[in-house]
Parts: sequence; structure tokens; C-alpha cells
Amino acid sequence: MDGFLLDRGFQVLLTAYPEAQQMLDYGALDLHPFEPGALVRHGGKFQRLVDPWRRPRHLLATAFSSVGTLGDKLRIAGLRRRVGRFTLEELYERPEQTTAERLRDEGFSTRIIERFFRPFLGGVFLDRDLETSSRLFAFVFRMFASGDAVLPSQGMGAMARQLAERLPPGTVCTNSAVARLEEHGVHLADGRQLSGKAVVVATESPAAANLLGEPQPPAGRSVTCLYFAAERPPLDEPILVLNGEGLGVVNNLCVPSLVSSTYAPPGAALVSATVLGIPAIDDHHLESSVLQQLQEWFGNQVQTWRHLRTYRIPFALPAQSPPALSPVAKSPRKRDGIWLCGDYLDTASIQGAMVSGRRAAEEILSTQAVE
Ligand SMILES: Cc1cc2nc3c(=O)[nH]c(=O)nc-3n(C[C@H](O)[C@H](O)[C@H](O)COP(=O)(O)OP(=O)(O)OC[C@H]3O[C@@H](n4cnc5c(N)ncnc54)[C@H](O)[C@@H]3O)c2cc1C
Repeated sequence: MDGFLLDRGFQVLLTAYPEAQQMLDYGALDLHPFEPGALVRHGGKFQRLVDPWRRPRHLLATAFSSVGTLGDKLRIAGLRRRVGRFTLEELYERPEQTTAERLRDEGFSTRIIERFFRPFLGGVFLDRDLETSSRLFAFVFRMFASGDAVLPSQGMGAMARQLAERLPPGTVCTNSAVARLEEHGVHLADGRQLSGKAVVVATESPAAANLLGEPQPPAGRSVTCLYFAAERPPLDEPILVLNGEGLGVVNNLCVPSLVSSTYAPPGAALVSATVLGIPAIDDHHLESSVLQQLQEWFGNQVQTWRHLRTYRIPFALPAQSPPALSPVAKSPRKRDGIWLCGDYLDTASIQGAMVSGRRAAEEILSTQAVE
């Protein structure tokens, strides 16, 4: 839009996702990393929390930041070691509780939970209450600890385009809603019919339930993202900013054009602000509350920012709270001859969506080989 590259909501690829490593050509995606860790807004200033193994030069800033106690920072190191010991499959089989319970049981102080984990994991799970499964927490923690959070230079959509380009031309047909399913074909809303050896429903879980005539799943997690054009970036490094105060609507913020300059035209910066949930106020009032909060963070420069776009995404992620999650066992699924895949059948992530899709494909190929 106007030379800015807007992802549909703030999102990142974690390079440690094993399935993404197998499926994507990282080199061709021209990936640009965020600085590991975060700047936490608390007490009227920004405090740094980074992984000292990956950024030893920030060890002291992290050790002395008031985001958590020294004990908390040692606990993070211990947790990092422990989650690194298991395979992902083993992590998904570990005893399950909510992430909030797990953090308390690990001995983390209220201070680091409120100032760091709630905004950070709240932004990842779109769940500031941290009711999400501790298995998801272990998975996400492991992925952040063992790789980079990155943006492809041509935007997150470049991953989908790369996968689609490997298929024969004409295989993918967009803007063609499916209205009805059969075991060997689909009826599109525009009246066309398509047939094939197998049908795989790869939609979000509410759409899959509609197509299969099943009961609706629990409400998903929602999110709202506002994009602004700035003359100069409000930060001087490509790092995630977290709201550690719990006040105001913005949970997290970043400047994607500092991560990859392709996100903004020359001489401009792109600012992305994330609000969890779908606010009950209209876009105009939402924009004002966001800018008011960010003016407290970054001063009067915010007055010159131009609003580009607001995305409200009611079903961004499936809710994966215990006892719901047993991803290894759930994927893939088959109903009445129709296959299902998607993030809701594995971990709610790019990794989970890709694993689930691959498993469905492998099952279909092995079934058809027998037939
Ligand atoms: C704002 C946001 C930020 C995120 N951030 C991250 C992140 O940083 N890292 C990460 O790993 N994950 C992130 N995620 C999650 C990740 O994007 C999803 O887990 C993943 O895209 C799910 O893939 P999927 O293939 O299961 O489903 P989807 O990507 O939801 O695809 C389902 C598709 O089905 C289509 N569809 C629905 N109904 C029909 C129908 N009747 N006929 C035809 N088509 C239909 C939809 O239009 C959609 O294109 C984020 C998600 C959002 C929304």
C-alpha cells in the first residue's frame, strides 16, 4: 500500500521450525532477522531482555534490567536447557497445564510474568491470560531459543507463493469458496464442480466444521493490527517492543522496515502495532487510543505518523488450552472419506500447519498405494 508492505497482521517465521526448514527455501526467501529478545516498556522507559547466549554483549543490561529478578533470568536459562533436551514429539506428550500455571510452577516471579511473559507469550498465543497449553509454551520457547524470528524480504506471503510455485501452473485456484464436499470432489459457491482422487479440507476449524456439518469448535483467538507510516523509525534497531505495564491497548509493536527495508519506501518507516482481541470501539477511536499510548512511549514524533490500515482478524488462531491439546495424536484426521489438516490439528503455528498438511498428504499417498 503506497509503497509499504503490509502483512495481514504482525507475524514472523521462526527459522528453527523443523518443518519450515524442510519445506521452504530459506535462501530464496531472503530472510531478515529480528534482534533476539525484546525491549520491555515499563516504568516510563524501555528495558532490554535478551538471550545472553545469543547476545553476550547485552548480558549486563539483561542481568540488571528490572523486568525480572536475577533468579528469573537463571530460571529462563534452566528452562532453555530442559526444553532443548526433548524432541518436539516428546514435548507434546509432557504433562499439560496452562502456560500461566507452568510459569508459576517453574518459580518465575510475578514481576517477570507480568512484565515479560504476559505481553510476549500473550502476543504469540494472542492470549494475555496465558490459558494456552504448556505444551505450546514449551514448543514456542524451544523455537525462539534455537533460531531467529525473521521476515522474508517480500513479506510473509512469499512463503505461500514459494510453495505454490512448485506446483504445475493452474493447480491453485484462489477466491473460489467451497460450498459443499463429496468424497471425490467439491462444489464451489459459484456453481462449478471440481473432482479429484481425494478431498482435503485445509481451512480454519470453524469453516471445516461448517463444511462437514459438525458442531462449531470453541471460539478462536482474535487480534487487531494497525499499520502507520512514519518519516523516521521510533526505534534504532529491529527489535520487538512489549507493553510490560499492562496499561493501554497496544500489546506489542515493531518497525518491520528496520528488519527488512523492503517493508517501506525509501525515506520512510513502517510501524506495526498489535492489539489483542477485537476492540469494541470503531477504527477511528481505536487509532486515537493507539496513537495516544504510543505518544507516551515515543513522544511528539507520533503526531506526524499517517495511519495506513487496520486489520481486525476475528479468528487468527485456534484456542489450544488444556485439556484440548494432544497434537501428535490428532493429526491427520479423516471423516467420511474426507481428509482434514490445519494448524488446529497440530500446534497453532506455521510449523503446525505445515506438519499437518504433510502428514495428510503422506497418509493419502500410502492409502492410495494400497488401493
Ligand atoms: C495475525 C496473525 C499472526 C500470526 N503470527 C504467527 C507467527 O508469528 N508465527 C507462526 O508460526 N504463526 C503465526 N500465526 C498463525 C499462522 O498464520 C497459522 O497457524 C497458519 O497460517 C495456519 O495455516 P492453515 O493452513 O492451518 O490455515 P489458514 O492459513 O487459516 O488457511 C485456511 C484457508 O482456508 C480458506 N477457506 C476457508 N473456508 C473456505 C472455503 N469454504 N472454501 C475455500 N477456502 C476456504 C481461508 O480463506 C484460508 O485461506 C499468525 C496468525 C495470524 C492471523
